Amino acid sequence: MAVDGGKLLQAEVRSLANTADGRVVVRTVRAGTAGSEPDEIDADAVVVAAGAWSHRLAATLGDRIPLQTQRGYHVTVANPGVNPTLVVNWVRPRIFASPMEIGMRFAGTVEIASLEAAPDWRRADALLTLGRRMYPGMDVAQVSRWMGHRPCLPDSLPVIGRSPRASNVFYAFGHGHVGMCGASGTGRTIAELVAGEQPQIDISPFGVDRF
Ligand SMILES: Cc1cc2nc3c(=O)[nH]c(=O)nc-3n(C[C@H](O)[C@H](O)[C@H](O)COP(=O)(O)OP(=O)(O)OC[C@H]3O[C@@H](n4cnc5c(N)ncnc54)[C@H](O)[C@@H]3O)c2cc1C
Repeated sequence: MAVDGGKLLQAEVRSLANTADGRVVVRTVRAGTAGSEPDEIDADAVVVAAGAWSHRLAATLGDRIPLQTQRGYHVTVANPGVNPTLVVNWVRPRIFASPMEIGMRFAGTVEIASLEAAPDWRRADALLTLGRRMYPGMDVAQVSRWMGHRPCLPDSLPVIGRSPRASNVFYAFGHGHVGMCGASGTGRTIAELVAGEQPQIDISPFGVDRF
């Protein structure tokens, strides 16, 4: 799909590789073609922003990054029949209740489990139980559950910057619990780096070489 002079391609990236002339080859497999030979994309620059899976792509270049996932859950109650105007944090059980256009969302919990492990929906159900204690009159006829990943590093800082093994591969991941809040700042920094500009912030704490 072409967008503003660019091209959007939806595919699974299997690996990255340097070329002799300083470019990067991105090997991909498109949906429905699993098992076939990967397509190769020849790139001037690559940004790895694959969340909790990013270390697997970095490893194909030889960069070892101790990324782990802290998994979390939420439940959303559509048409709850209660209308708080603010986000409420019930501190002791560490649950957030957020009124949204699509309903009331209850979120929280940290689960240490692998990327491949099946969701443990009991955790989402426990959030709903707490939510019903917060709002006893809530209508729970329409409830949806979700599990997601928080990509985390041992020092709780993200990885932002160039690969030591390929100066035109840029890493942007590992924002843990604040990836949505951090995305705009990291996006600007990565855009500056790719454009060859001096970033507006000191990115030395975020380098891959700290591990
Ligand atoms: C319950 C919960 C509540 C949260 N609340 C907040 C909050 O209030 N505020 C906040 O700022 N953050 C919050 N977060 C954290 C936030 O969701 C994450 O930090 C953020 O989603 C990370 O964004 P990302 O783009 O790096 O990764 P993701 O959102 O995980 O996106 C990575 C994408 O890369 C794709 N991908 C991976 N590997 C490949 C591959 N090989 N080829 C192609 N595509 C690939 C994946 O399919 C995915 O679409 C919360 C997380 C959870 C779980």
